[in-house]
Amino acid sequence: MTSFSRSGSKSNPAQSRKKRLLRSQDLVESIGWLALLFVIVSFLVNGGLAGIKDLQTALGAIERISALVATMLLLIQILLISRVPWLDRLYGHDRATATHKKIGKPVLYLVILHVVAVIWSYSLNDGVGVIDEFMSLIKIIPEILLATISLGLMITVVLASINISRKKLSYEAWYLVHLLGYGAVMFAIPHQLIVGVDITISPITQGFWVAAYLFVGLNILWFRLASPIFLSGTRKLQVGKVVRESTDSVSITINGKKLNAFAAEAGQFFIVRFLTKSHWWRAHPFSLSAKPTETAFRFTIGKRGDDTAIFQNITPGTKVILEGPYGVFVDSRRTEDEVVLVAAGIGAPPIRALAESLEETKSVNIIYRVRDADDAPLLSELKELSQRKNYKLHVLDGSRRAEDSWLPKSVSSEVSDEQALQRICPSISAADVFICGPREFTKLFSKSSEKLGVPTERIHAEEFAW
Ligand SMILES: Cc1cc2nc3c(=O)[nH]c(=O)nc-3n(C[C@H](O)[C@H](O)[C@H](O)COP(=O)(O)OP(=O)(O)OC[C@H]3O[C@@H](n4cnc5c(N)ncnc54)[C@H](O)[C@@H]3O)c2cc1C
Repeated sequence: MTSFSRSGSKSNPAQSRKKRLLRSQDLVESIGWLALLFVIVSFLVNGGLAGIKDLQTALGAIERISALVATMLLLIQILLISRVPWLDRLYGHDRATATHKKIGKPVLYLVILHVVAVIWSYSLNDGVGVIDEFMSLIKIIPEILLATISLGLMITVVLASINISRKKLSYEAWYLVHLLGYGAVMFAIPHQLIVGVDITISPITQGFWVAAYLFVGLNILWFRLASPIFLSGTRKLQVGKVVRESTDSVSITINGKKLNAFAAEAGQFFIVRFLTKSHWWRAHPFSLSAKPTETAFRFTIGKRGDDTAIFQNITPGTKVILEGPYGVFVDSRRTEDEVVLVAAGIGAPPIRALAESLEETKSVNIIYRVRDADDAPLLSELKELSQRKNYKLHVLDGSRRAEDSWLPKSVSSEVSDEQALQRICPSISAADVFICGPREFTKLFSKSSEKLGVPTERIHAEEFAW
């Protein structure tokens, strides 16, 4: 169980924040379950099981209930992955994505069950084979043809999401495939309205479904499209200073006015869109590398591929659209007054911003794992901050000593990862640990922290991965 030692007083702010968060999560989850319950109850109330007397009518019932539950789950699933800020603040993107993935396969199975039941029951009714029935359905009812395209898109999205294909896909291809998910929903809507009796059967069910679609659609349109364009435009966001940090990274300051409207916190990230001729359509996530101010957000960008190479030479004055802020890698999620901040490579930006903004701490250890300490982004700033705020900075440089270790070669192989960590931070078991780095590093460091007694809920990780 999490302990709340941050203030030790009766009105511990960390404890009340955590309670409020849990209450809000309970509320949102209850609404989700109630929506599912509503579709099942409305199916029963509207005689869903009443007419079952043979295989054909049983298939009719299966076809209806599977469609209703699948549609509701699909809407929930889309909301979970849509990165709307209020959901992101409640669960963080990693948890929302994990639930989104969990729901993916059941939705597909329910949709396939629905399609099989529809074609089978119609073919029994018309006394023809299932293939002939299917061909005549898509010829006669255009909405069914659209629904078939929708199923094809859905299968594509699920196949692209399973690990094997995902490893082979580039980020851009994966992103485009996922946009097809929105297409799948759009293509399915007409047949639900034209042939879906359960939606149009009563004003209550009609109102419910219209409200559900509007809620999801408007959330996405507002938070992902309208609000970023409006806020970025009215705040006049543009590239200010560009400063080289290492041979392959730069810090880019985005200037604007009244930036507190974004309510950004150190440790969070934005999806950044530089409005150049070639790149206005390619947005990338970057974390704040300094505490946000009224007039400036700063990002530190490492050259990791084609686009980040171009951003190294971005011209001051370039207009910018920011989507976000996102993420729960923030000081307000901390429950202890001892803190361990851990960065590996280009994971330094959010750690640097957190180090600057931490308040009410008893002890802060910063571990910075780099390949070359003479060419590490933000290292001089971390040194200056540590001196000024009395933090302990541990720079571990050099290449990895082994595949299954987060330590550099300079640390003897006789010392295990846990022993080394215990020496660096003797009281780590009492701390909140914030880790930002590549996936493998984060996994190994989290494992060492857990072995030394840090509970999972006190390990906060931000992976620069999709
Ligand atoms: C939450 C988060 C915060 C991040 N913060 C920073 C930061 O502060 N500084 C920094 O330098 N980098 C950060 N990154 C990583 C950065 O977004 C990618 O390095 C960048 O998008 C690569 O773009 P590219 O076209 O140059 O590279 P590509 O050639 O397209 O790919 C290079 C690598 O980056 C990954 N990548 C590509 N596009 C994305 C994307 N949109 N989202 C996630 N990964 C992607 C690819 O899988 C590949 O491993 C962050 C990533 C995430 C998810």
